Amino acid sequence: MSVLVTGAAGFIGSHLVDRLLERGEAVVGLDSFDSFYPRRIKEANLAHAREFSRFTLVEGDIRDRSLVAKLPDTINSVAHLAARAGVRPSIRDPTLCADVNLVGTSILLDFAVARGIRPFVFASSSSVYGNNPKTPFSETDSVDHPVSPYAATKRGGELLCHAASHLHGLTCLALRFFTVYGPRQRPDLAIRKFSGLLLANGEVPRFGDGSTARDYTFIDDILEGVLAGLEWTRRSDPGFEVVNLGEARPIRLAEMIRVLGEAFGRSPRVRELPMEPGDVERTFADLERARALLDYRPSTDFPEGIRKFAEWYLAEGAHQDEVLGTA
Ligand code: NAD
Repeated sequence: MSVLVTGAAGFIGSHLVDRLLERGEAVVGLDSFDSFYPRRIKEANLAHAREFSRFTLVEGDIRDRSLVAKLPDTINSVAHLAARAGVRPSIRDPTLCADVNLVGTSILLDFAVARGIRPFVFASSSSVYGNNPKTPFSETDSVDHPVSPYAATKRGGELLCHAASHLHGLTCLALRFFTVYGPRQRPDLAIRKFSGLLLANGEVPRFGDGSTARDYTFIDDILEGVLAGLEWTRRSDPGFEVVNLGEARPIRLAEMIRVLGEAFGRSPRVRELPMEPGDVERTFADLERARALLDYRPSTDFPEGIRKFAEWYLAEGAHQDEVLGTA
């Protein structure tokens, strides 16, 4: 039997595939290699997985119903991570974001129902909390005021999962990831972008006065949560749950830039710019439910995670980004 991982060539998806393979599972990866960032980066993400004969990669779009219907019949659980990710791109093209994130999610839920597959993990996002004035953000807080199309589609995806579990007996778990970082991080995200600028002695653009804060979550901690989440969907009765995965330690933007500068041994030159539309003031995960349901205990503090990221960036990421010339 095998797990279907959508978005298998992406940042989080490729790490999840590696971890599942390393613990002996068979994995079917589905990815369209969309043009959001270069294919060669996604190919590098998949290099380790391709060494396993238990890994099958299907190249295609989650919105392609006939392709999805033909996926291998060994699949008995789904981890749905494929998406048009990111707040800013969703403001530039909200319809594409809605198409992939809502229609695509609906097609995967239909697939699970048609095949009688019960366990279904959905990658949601802390962005669903919008500008929540209450901290930390709890799963019981209102999520009715998204401030970007991306956030609206992630909330919509959760609601589609809820409806499918209610109507068809799926066990759906929506995991709200809080800004994930680490090796293979998406090239559009601040930590990776700023790293390239630091190494190239460029100015680091800081949106706002540096007081906005993010609950940056190291990839290894997210993976522990996703794997525990997958186990939970396999052993639990039909139903729907939503769980935060963060670190519960918000870091201010100014502090993030300082720690990053330290990790690369550079003094950041900062250019202050106005806040961008769609940005939220802060994110901060309440982890009580994650602990109770998944025994989730994140363990990587920010300076340690940044050191590990910087090590990878110098060895691989900066070459992929052509900051240090090709490897
Ligand atoms: P990513 O862009 O690196 O990975 C997404 C993958 O999905 C890519 O490889 C892409 O080619 C694939 N994809 C996109 N559209 C597709 C389609 N129509 N059909 C098939 N494949 C398609 O992003 P990521 O950062 O790894 O994010 C993974 C998931 O986690 C996403 O659902 C994202 O919304 C969610 N998430 C990420 C973060 C974060 O900080 N990285 C935070 C919250 C939520």
